Amino acid sequence: MKSFAARLIAWQRKHGRHDLPWQGTRDAYRIWLSEIMLQQTQVATVIPYYNRFLASFPDARALAAAPLERVLEHWSGLGYYRRAHHLHAAAQAIVERHGGAFPRDAQTIAMLPGIGRSTAAAIAAFAFGARGAILDGNVRRLLARHRGIAGFPGDRKVEAKLWAAAESLLPERDIEAYTQALMDLGATICTRASPCCEKCPVATDCVARRDDRIAELPSPRPRKTLPQRAVRVLLIERAGAILFERRPAVGIWSGLWSLPEIDVGADVARQCKARFATDVVVGEELSPIEHGFTHFRLTILPQRIAVRKWPPRAEAPGLVWLTRDDALSAALPAPIKALMRRV
Ligand code: SF4
Repeated sequence: MKSFAARLIAWQRKHGRHDLPWQGTRDAYRIWLSEIMLQQTQVATVIPYYNRFLASFPDARALAAAPLERVLEHWSGLGYYRRAHHLHAAAQAIVERHGGAFPRDAQTIAMLPGIGRSTAAAIAAFAFGARGAILDGNVRRLLARHRGIAGFPGDRKVEAKLWAAAESLLPERDIEAYTQALMDLGATICTRASPCCEKCPVATDCVARRDDRIAELPSPRPRKTLPQRAVRVLLIERAGAILFERRPAVGIWSGLWSLPEIDVGADVARQCKARFATDVVVGEELSPIEHGFTHFRLTILPQRIAVRKWPPRAEAPGLVWLTRDDALSAALPAPIKALMRRV
């Protein structure tokens, strides 16, 4: 039987994906951008974002020189905004530390903000043909099944076993085709639910298939119920515009524009008076929005507020009035943007 890698490479040449916008280039900047966008997001969603982003920021220098606000605008809707903050910081590091040229070896690449070991290896493989193992979410699933590695892959010991497997399977040559094959096979054949084993090039020696353990592998995260939080957001309207407030630089949705928030139990009129020194008319409560974060679930309770007079002293630097249309193209958190679409 041919090696695992040889079967994957042959499969990739025939059945893998070859026409994605970030393929067929050796430009490490483009490859890096695609890898970061694809980390939490499906290919079909990423493509238009990728093209728009490149049109505005064609290389690391352009990205490094852009204001963070513009970068976030281009990211708005993709979610996981830390990725955009890291991209921007990494572009600046590439300019400052490497004279604008993308570093070539995986270890140096992994020292840039937001780039882990697997992403660094993928960039080095695609851009420079460097031989190194990758282990993104899809590859973890594929290897956990094929090698029969039980346990939650986020667990350190299990992860070490998966890395060891990934390294032991590396081919001597054709690292680009092999790396792409792992990604494609994980994304299109060895999928989370109902993998297509009859089309899999490594089915003959797959442990999970042999032992009928496909549904059990990889083992799920040990169950933990996420804490539930709630917050009231104020839809303060005046003369056709809505008040937005810049989020703090740290914490969720950092740096984005969002609606002012208050505690759920707080008196709305009194809070507005205290924060903005203005009298308001408290309007209707809109239906709640549920939003999930990695560590908690958030219920957002929107409250309409009308205001007639806005005192000049409330025009603080972190506040801005936007029309609904302007808000839709600004860097807003996804649930707030969804709210704007329906008000
Ligand atoms: S045989 Fe099925 S479970 Fe095993 S690696 Fe292939 S697709 Fe995944």
